[in-house]
Amino acid sequence: MNNIIMVDFDGTITKEDTCVSSLKEFATRDWKHIDEKWVAGELSTRQCSIELYKLMDFDEERLKSFLEDIEIDDYFVQFAQLCEEKGIDIYIVSDGFDYNIKTVLAKYGLDYLKQYSNGFRFDEGGNYSLTFPHENKDCGKCGTCKSNIFYNLKSKTDKIIYIGDGYSDRCVASKVDILFAKSYLAEYCDNEGIEYIEYESFKDIIDYLKEFRERQESK
Ligand SMILES: [Mg+2]
Ligand SMILES: [Zn+2]
Repeated sequence: MNNIIMVDFDGTITKEDTCVSSLKEFATRDWKHIDEKWVAGELSTRQCSIELYKLMDFDEERLKSFLEDIEIDDYFVQFAQLCEEKGIDIYIVSDGFDYNIKTVLAKYGLDYLKQYSNGFRFDEGGNYSLTFPHENKDCGKCGTCKSNIFYNLKSKTDKIIYIGDGYSDRCVASKVDILFAKSYLAEYCDNEGIEYIEYESFKDIIDYLKEFRERQESK
């Protein structure tokens, strides 16, 4: 059975949050008060996203070319290669949108990676729609509930490593077997007494996996 690593997308794989950056680029009015309500748990991801997209003025071409300029962690490609070699399955789990994930990763030839996220599409007329296929009634907050996905994947393997950085990782953080956290997520874990390993980039995860494998192989 393959080992599994769940990885957040925005701010974890990418150097900047694709949703926040899109807002900074395309919002025609102030959006921060809406985002703050989501952070405080007063709005669900669905409610928040619908409101935020309404504030943005973009078309497919502009959005796509903007997203194509967003960079990923300098070591993520190497990390994905290592996982492939070692038979570790990567699952991208994101409370952001598949359109952003596919557009950014295609540039690096990594858009084949398995992913769970919210849906964003343009129709032929250039109008967009949002879908939330991974909501969880018991959670009520997340668009893509990472806890739900974690429980489903957990039935396939005994240990799951999770890598994240932010607010959307709060739901699952205390449940996973090994947690890598940075920035806001690390602060949150400190406050909540959740154990984690601090990391800066995927270089740290690569080093950990190499050692982890050596430990397992020498058993
Ligand atoms: Mg994130
Ligand atoms: Zn959730």
